[in-house]
Formats: sequence, C-alpha cells, structure tokens
Amino acid sequence: MHSLIKIADNKNVFIVNDIYEFIDPKNIYIPILKSSSFNKNTYIYKNTYFNDFIASASGFISGSKKFFLYNQLIPCLKITNDFKENVHKNTRIKKVNNIDELKQVLLKYKLNNIYDKLSNNPDNIIVTCVDEEAYSAREFMCLSKNYDEILQTMDYLSKIIKINNLYLAIKSTNAKSIKNVKSIIGTYPNIKTVLLPDKYLISYKDNICEFLNVKANSIVLTTNEVYDIYQSVIKGKEIVEKLITISGDGIAKSYVIRVKLGTALKEVVDKFIEFNTDNYEVYVNGYLQGEKAQSIDELLITKDTDTFIINEKSTLKEEECINCGACFKICPFDINVKKCYFENRQSLKCIRCGLCNYICPAHLNLKKVVGGQNEK
Ligand code: SF4
Ligand code: SF4
Repeated sequence: MHSLIKIADNKNVFIVNDIYEFIDPKNIYIPILKSSSFNKNTYIYKNTYFNDFIASASGFISGSKKFFLYNQLIPCLKITNDFKENVHKNTRIKKVNNIDELKQVLLKYKLNNIYDKLSNNPDNIIVTCVDEEAYSAREFMCLSKNYDEILQTMDYLSKIIKINNLYLAIKSTNAKSIKNVKSIIGTYPNIKTVLLPDKYLISYKDNICEFLNVKANSIVLTTNEVYDIYQSVIKGKEIVEKLITISGDGIAKSYVIRVKLGTALKEVVDKFIEFNTDNYEVYVNGYLQGEKAQSIDELLITKDTDTFIINEKSTLKEEECINCGACFKICPFDINVKKCYFENRQSLKCIRCGLCNYICPAHLNLKKVVGGQNEK
C-alpha cells in the first residue's frame, strides 16, 4: 500500500450530530440529457423515471432551469411539488435468489454504481462507514441512524451472494459507532467489525483489501449504498431521497440532511445555513475530490452529488512550480503529476483524489489537468 496520510482537521468546522430532514421542497428538477420535448402543465407522478433520473415528488411541469452537472450547464424540467406524493403504480417486491437476480433488481432501481461493484464469485463483502472527504459525515451518520438496517442487509447479501466473510469497517476515531455496533453485532456472528486508521483513502478498494489482508475480488460498499439496497431490494421502494453533507469554514454549522433527489441546493441552504462570510466559494462532492462551482444557485442534488463544502474564499494564488517533487511523492499511483500538468495531459490512472492539489506549495490545480477536467 502506498503510504497514506491524515488530512489536517480544521477545528472551526463543527458538524451537527444528527440527521436533519428537508423532504418537502417547493420544486424538484429533472435533468434532460437527451433532447426531448415536454409540455408545460403535464402532470408528473412521483417515481416516474426520465432516463436515469427519478421524479421524487408529484406535480405539474411548470418550466425549466439550467443546473451545472457533469461539467456543463444542463437544462432541467421544473416540477412544482403538489405535496400529494401521487405514485402511478406501486413497485412490487420481487424475490431475489442469487447474485444475477440481485444485479437485475439493482439496474431496475438505477443503482448502477452498486451493480458495477458486484463482481462474480467474490470472497468478501466489506462495508465501510468511512467518510473520506474532510468534513463529510454522511456515511458515519447513515450507520449511526440505521444500525439494524445495515447489519440486516449485510446478512441478507451474504445469503444471496453466498459469502461468509463480512466486514464492517469503522474509523478508529468514531468511538460512538464502535460502541453502538458492539452492542448489537452479537446478533450477527458472521459480521466482523474492523477498525481503520484515520488516513485519507483508507476505504479505497485496493487499500482496504490490503489493510484487511483479503483478496481484491471483494465487494466494497459504503453504508449509504447498503441502505439503498435495503430500501430498494428488501423493501421494494424507489430511491427518491439521499443524505447530503453541507459543511465548511464559511458557514456557522455543518449539517447532514436527508433531501429529495432533484432538490435545488439553494432551497436547502436557504432553510438551514447561516453564513460566516459573504465571500465564500463552494465545492461539489468535497474539497479534495470535488470541483469548485460557480454559484450555489446552479447546483442540483442528484444521485451523483452529495458533499457540498462552503469555505471562506481562498486568498491563495497560483504561483510558479518550485520543482519540489511533492506531487509525485504523494500520488498514490506514482503519476508524474508535474510532467502531465505542464504537458497539459491527462493520466488515465488518476482517481482524482486531490492529494496533489492538497500538497502543492504553488497551489496549482494539478488534479483538474491530470484528472481530465482541464479548463485552463
Ligand atoms: S488527483 Fe490524480 S494525480 Fe493527483 S494525487 Fe490523486 S491520483 Fe495522483
Ligand atoms: S508539488 Fe507543485 S510545486 Fe512541487 S513539483 Fe509538483 S507542481 Fe511543482
């Protein structure tokens, strides 16, 4: 394993130790990726799919708005929530007997990320409640509020996939989770609790498998993914809500909030967030792995966006490279980061972990070039 580092904490960032709810947005938005026409005033039932996106509420189409998704502004249908939660037809629960049937059900619920993780003939299932990104707490909080559901689903998966090696990985610094898990884990003798060091990228698949000394053909799932399996495969419910973290040193308190998919971030921020400053910047999907956004107004909560960091605007400016070699030394994949950057070249090995940006004393946005989102 490449030697991992601990990311320094900012003691001013304070996370509220609970899950808040914002599941009654005034409007929800559906990205329209393929050109298609929709009439205004068309009624949309909750749980209707538009390609990979789901309507998380019912109501009439009342217009459209562009949001910044997948590195571009994408038009989205605006549906004004009638708060009736009208569903066209209820989902029937189909009994799942093996990994192939499980995969089909995951595709039906558009849980493609989880589908991709289910290799055939795996030896282990590892569930991590590690929030890799600093100031995110959605994995840890998901476990804290759903111990029974997470453990029950792990047990269920072990029977479907026919695996006996189950690991629940918790950061050694999460004392509360460790205590709570220990109090109920006795019901599941097949699940082993393992403590992980507080190091960045420890839950990255190769690292965690190496740390646990298990084969790489393991399935590594997050607690939120396991909870989605519980909701969909076990309970037969469409996934229309998710946990997000809003955090950073530009706001008074950080929150983990349950929201509906398709909610505009601005609506959530207006309800919960007290700013410390007017001079802030926003990162989508974390400070290290995410990207800086232009404005809160153009951010939408989808299944691909979860951690919004609002920081006081940095005064650091990009400077000349001093040839220190720190970017190469820290890169987990030994990419010659500086060379790629100055040749304006992407590396396909890059996982966009952000460590090179974190370490670079010249404050260069190396990840953007090497990770393939070069807009220099
Ligand atoms: S962002 Fe990419 S290049 Fe930079 S350290 Fe991570 S993997 Fe290496
Ligand atoms: S870390 Fe920054 S300053 Fe140091 S060699 Fe890499 S690009 Fe240059």
